Amino acid sequence: MSKYIFLTGGVVSSLGKGIAAAAIGALLEARGLTVNIVKLDPYINIDPGTLSPYQHGEVFVTDDGAETDLDLGHYERFTHITLTQANNWTTGRIYYNVIRKERQGDYLGETVQVVPHITDEIKNAIKAAGTSCDVVIVEVGGTIGDIESLPFLEAIRQMRYDGKGNVFYAHLTLVPYIQSAGELKTKPTQHSVKELQATGIAPDALLCRSTIEIPINHKKKIALFCNVEMEAVIGAIDVETIYMVPLSLHNEGLDNLIIKKFGFNDTEPDLSKWKEVVRRMLEPASDVTIALVGKYMDLKDSYKSLTEALIHGGISNNTKVNFQWIDSENIEQHGVSKYLSEVDGILVPGGFGTRGIEGKIETIKYAREKKIPFFGICLGMQCAVIEFARHICGLKDANSTEFNESTPYPIIYLMEKWFDFRTSTWQERTNDSNKGGTMRLGAYPCNLTKKSHALNAYGKTEISERHRHRYEFNNEFTDCLTSNGMIISGKSPDGELVEIIELKDHPWFLGCQFHPEFKSRPTEPHPLFRAFIAAALKEKRSLFPFVATSFTEEYAADSF
Ligand code: GLN
Repeated sequence: MSKYIFLTGGVVSSLGKGIAAAAIGALLEARGLTVNIVKLDPYINIDPGTLSPYQHGEVFVTDDGAETDLDLGHYERFTHITLTQANNWTTGRIYYNVIRKERQGDYLGETVQVVPHITDEIKNAIKAAGTSCDVVIVEVGGTIGDIESLPFLEAIRQMRYDGKGNVFYAHLTLVPYIQSAGELKTKPTQHSVKELQATGIAPDALLCRSTIEIPINHKKKIALFCNVEMEAVIGAIDVETIYMVPLSLHNEGLDNLIIKKFGFNDTEPDLSKWKEVVRRMLEPASDVTIALVGKYMDLKDSYKSLTEALIHGGISNNTKVNFQWIDSENIEQHGVSKYLSEVDGILVPGGFGTRGIEGKIETIKYAREKKIPFFGICLGMQCAVIEFARHICGLKDANSTEFNESTPYPIIYLMEKWFDFRTSTWQERTNDSNKGGTMRLGAYPCNLTKKSHALNAYGKTEISERHRHRYEFNNEFTDCLTSNGMIISGKSPDGELVEIIELKDHPWFLGCQFHPEFKSRPTEPHPLFRAFIAAALKEKRSLFPFVATSFTEEYAADSF
């Protein structure tokens, strides 16, 4: 039977519960255990697919096409798990299942209630994640004291009685440093634990977020007032990079505590990969500046996986990546060179809707003409194709039908019928329902052609990457585009769907219809991000030969 670690949060939100859950996963894997991580989200939306990126940050897409909370991105990046839709449960999804069962008559006339029907549904979801691993880590979204998370707390409380000794409750709280008093304060933690205990849950460990190390006497005080052992008061101190969190929690003894509680063998964890990641981040040999030209610039969490993947590309090149965030509407108003003349690489990410599109197209024209390494992802690739059609192929007003339904050259369009390699079925799109449900979601196979940057990067011809979009490259224009210098370097196995485009006569210009950022890990940087950062670094060195760098091809090929 699997063991369960339940992670709740107290005092305030945004303490980094997702990263803490992911880091615990990393620490247990480092001891040779298998883990799974589940996120329980208290909101009523069935999944975050319909949430604005401004409100909720990025939608993370899994191989099986689930649109999930961005914390799942941390879980995959810190561990070796490939997550599925079984890893993210919202209140909405739980109630939806229960109400569906009630309508089907599954409850045989019983009165359907929060306890036991909703709580049983939650417990079943948690247990389903634990069928084939040693430990399931369950992150409960929200903050203790919220009304919304009560059914989740009741369900995890009950799980102690489904298997004593198999559950471990960890509570993430805040120990603020009050500048004027020059002191750390334990009171918010005491109150938060009291509130947690009122739900019937007694924590086995407290992860105390703090800007400074928590002295022993404070730990003692917290232990005494919160009814935990002293060694169960774990300092979760601010660190320079999130990838230091596993190392920092290990130094505080968290994994040791968990191992002891569950009775696992106390082997020394192998944390060498994490140490190497951190070393490369703290002592990079060089740096590059990458412009991110997008739309949701006010909430950087909208591009969480993307920025992490760029950092990973930097790690494999022993290079620090500096970000220049640019709203493409500003480019429309003030011109490109004001923003882009000093960057080493340009990335146009995915997105939806018309706002800022022309600024992205101008950006791409600049990258193409000035031969600046360019990486276009999903919408970024679609804009690159539109730009090339307009300015090189002479197809004036070429566009995606997403932005102009009556364009004379629908270079990007809604394909009516396409073969879904995941389900091995034909998928149809109708014009009326395209606003709703017909996205191409999740992992799809792609074959790479010889002599391409893509093949150089991946080092193999068959790949699989994750998608989240409705519109596709229109094959009617293939000849026109390729005869003018565009290379189609990745296609679906039946050759119908264009997945990657590149340009001849450019140091590195690549657009992909999929989202490679979802599959990058700090310990296994994604090949395209590694190659993009390597190209940006090369570009920088050719312009500034005096820039000291220990970069060698060895780094670029280095996946550790
Ligand atoms: N809006 C585009 C589409 O739906 C691109 C989506 C994206 O970038 N994820 O096809």
